[in-house]
Amino acid sequence: MRKTSNSALSAMSERKKTAGTGAINEDEPLELASNIELTQSLTAFREWRRRAVDKAGAVKVGLVPTMGALHAGHMSLIEQAKKDCDIVVVSIFVNPLQFGPNEDYTRYPRTLSTDMKMLSDAGVHCVFNPSVEELYGQGAGTDATTVVVPPRFLIERLCGEFRPGHFEGVATVVCKLCNVVRPDYAYFGEKDYQQLQVVQRLVSDLNLNLEIRPVPIVREHDGLALSSRNAYLSKEERAKAPLIYQTLLQVKKHIFAENVPVEQALAEGRKRLGAEGFEVQYLQACDAETLAFLDTRKIPMVILTAAKLGAVRLIDNIIIRD
Ligand code: AMP
Repeated sequence: MRKTSNSALSAMSERKKTAGTGAINEDEPLELASNIELTQSLTAFREWRRRAVDKAGAVKVGLVPTMGALHAGHMSLIEQAKKDCDIVVVSIFVNPLQFGPNEDYTRYPRTLSTDMKMLSDAGVHCVFNPSVEELYGQGAGTDATTVVVPPRFLIERLCGEFRPGHFEGVATVVCKLCNVVRPDYAYFGEKDYQQLQVVQRLVSDLNLNLEIRPVPIVREHDGLALSSRNAYLSKEERAKAPLIYQTLLQVKKHIFAENVPVEQALAEGRKRLGAEGFEVQYLQACDAETLAFLDTRKIPMVILTAAKLGAVRLIDNIIIRD
């Protein structure tokens, strides 16, 4: 059913020759452990899907959308998808539409060779890795493309306040990827909690024929949530970064174990991070579904934060379910 790794390898070297956006910055030779298909055009993916899925009959297809630079957080989404589905597709696409003009689009880590090795070892069946031109034509980053706009109440607060246009970019690319891949299940990490709410609403509001499956946050031993952007942290910043999770835990304890008023607990959390050199964009307690700000104790609650450490913007959250 699947092609040999040779097709993936030759497609990769072809892409290396043609990449126009600096999309690939590795060139070590690569040994892939198992059959895995690398598709870089809509036609190639659709052809693979027709052969691998449609002809096989009633199989469940899982999609794990990523921007690459894979780590154990991504791999836990893939592990879950492997449990639920017969066929697992991982997309690797750094989506220009979700980056602001002063954000890290061009320097976002691109590590396709290493990613392919990890995905091959994990038994992923197909990687969809289109170029920007392939997915958007000439429309990306301009107002010449159709954009999906999620409900305002979900996108204007929290990360949306600091990253205008970000969730429109996310909703648009998720819609496109789901239209191409046509999965039964799509996997998203709770690490990007607001994004998860946005894609849940996207699927229900646009009647997309798939189910979103959330996956818990994977953390380093010291509590720092895994993120591709952690690679940007200096040694000193990396040493400080776990304070984000410690602060979230402290706010939770204040609110739920010590009866501290919500606003006071949040204010103390912001102060603690600020005193350690973080530039806190927000630290808020929200309704876990609507993301409405809460000033009293309520379950389920999610406590979310975004804070910059030097030039690196980190996000994290904890969900209080019972
Ligand atoms: P990204 O490549 O950053 O767009 O992430 C792709 C997917 O992996 C998103 O659904 C993220 O929420 C998820 N993800 C990233 N980091 C983690 C983590 N530490 N734990 C769980 N999921 C994660």
